[in-house]
Amino acid sequence: KENVRAAPAQILARPAPSASPSHCVREVERMRLRREAMREAVEEQRRSRADDDGTAEFQQMIAEYRQNLAAGARAPGDMHGGRATPPAAANAQRIRVVVRKRPLLAHERSNADYDTVTCAPGGRRIVVHEPKTRVDLQKAMESHAFDVDDVFSEEASTQELYERTVGALVAAMFDGCSATCFTYGQTGSGKTYTMLGKGAAGAVADAIAPSRALDGPDDAGLYHLAVRDCFEQLELLRREGVALFLAVSFFEVYCGGVHDLLRNRSTCRVLEDAQGEVQVRDLAEVVPDSLTHLLELTSAANAIRCVGTTSANEHSSRSHAVLQLTLRLAESGDSYGRFSLVDLAGSERAADCADAKRTTRNEGAEINKSLLCLKECIRALGAGQAYTPFRGSKLTQVLRDAFTGESARSVMIANVSPGSSSVEHTLNTLRYAMRLSAHSAADGGAS
Ligand code: ADP
Ligand code: MG
Repeated sequence: KENVRAAPAQILARPAPSASPSHCVREVERMRLRREAMREAVEEQRRSRADDDGTAEFQQMIAEYRQNLAAGARAPGDMHGGRATPPAAANAQRIRVVVRKRPLLAHERSNADYDTVTCAPGGRRIVVHEPKTRVDLQKAMESHAFDVDDVFSEEASTQELYERTVGALVAAMFDGCSATCFTYGQTGSGKTYTMLGKGAAGAVADAIAPSRALDGPDDAGLYHLAVRDCFEQLELLRREGVALFLAVSFFEVYCGGVHDLLRNRSTCRVLEDAQGEVQVRDLAEVVPDSLTHLLELTSAANAIRCVGTTSANEHSSRSHAVLQLTLRLAESGDSYGRFSLVDLAGSERAADCADAKRTTRNEGAEINKSLLCLKECIRALGAGQAYTPFRGSKLTQVLRDAFTGESARSVMIANVSPGSSSVEHTLNTLRYAMRLSAHSAADGGAS
């Protein structure tokens, strides 16, 4: 390490060049050497840091685990994190819990981060490897396995996710049901990517060109896929003489308030009428005439979420965004079926309720309250309970339809980041997902 550090200094100590061409060549060469030496020094630092915290050793352990798994051997040291699927329960179809793992991003890889999440063969088990260093400095790895309804690896497209899970919710909406799809997870785990598609995920640049992205099949998010499906089905029904139309609203729930994203974040009132119906007043409802029209609306609306903040994720990670698709009868305008797509606030924000800054603390407390209440409401739905504690938070209040009535259907997508630096958050996300099932009273006994 010493030699490497000394190298740039030695090079710097050479005499200054004169302006002749040969000197210029030498100068360029010197700069190249200096750059190389610096790069080598940084690399060396990175390597030694990685050795200190056992990165190489942990990566080796994870690789062995995967080899065993592929060979069909019982994976050693598995700790069962929980099971989301209630065994043969009549209500199993009402809530589905799936996990989506995003790929390790280039900047994470170059920061010596590595993949700590394994999608087991069979597509229903996800394993999180937790690196541990014992008091005697021995490295150990704990592997936590979670069983869910479906697992989508980093290679799966949003299209696949749609076909296997979310598409059924659009079909349910056309059957007159109230359907809801949530993306849950820490900030940066791919919630907005899943909803909006590539290029649009929190990208402030989209404020400038809202309709730029989202035209290739790989670019499509759930908004795109669900609405495309809606338009196709509406067209089929129209030919059969059934007159329905699609109305769209898009709002965010932030600190207990509802703000219209189609009207520059203007505040809406939430009222509950004598029949217990919840109404969001002053909320714009747009009837999009095409898929492109809708994508422009959602993309521009999402850009509004990012305006005025320094980083794309700063505000959006503190609010829940709800895209609501409502099927209405052409004649009366009455609601026939509804599908809400909810991009939840960053789950790690719930811990901000102990933050020193008052605003952050309040935001954290609201997020904590709404995510806990959401869990209770979904559990109540799964258990077929008559009483749902939806009044416990603004989010659950405005989503009341999602938890009440025979015909409510939900899909929870738990988004996880694979990096070693996210292990704790990833475990928290999966534990939350496990507890959504009303049958998981024992909570699986995760460590
Ligand atoms: P969140 O909304 O949960 O905070 P984002 O959706 O903004 O997270 O995703 C964080 C980053 O990861 C973005 O740069 C996004 O493009 C990228 N990303 C997320 N999911 C995927 C995926 N499945 N494939 C490729 N990149 C992804
Ligand atoms: Mg987001």
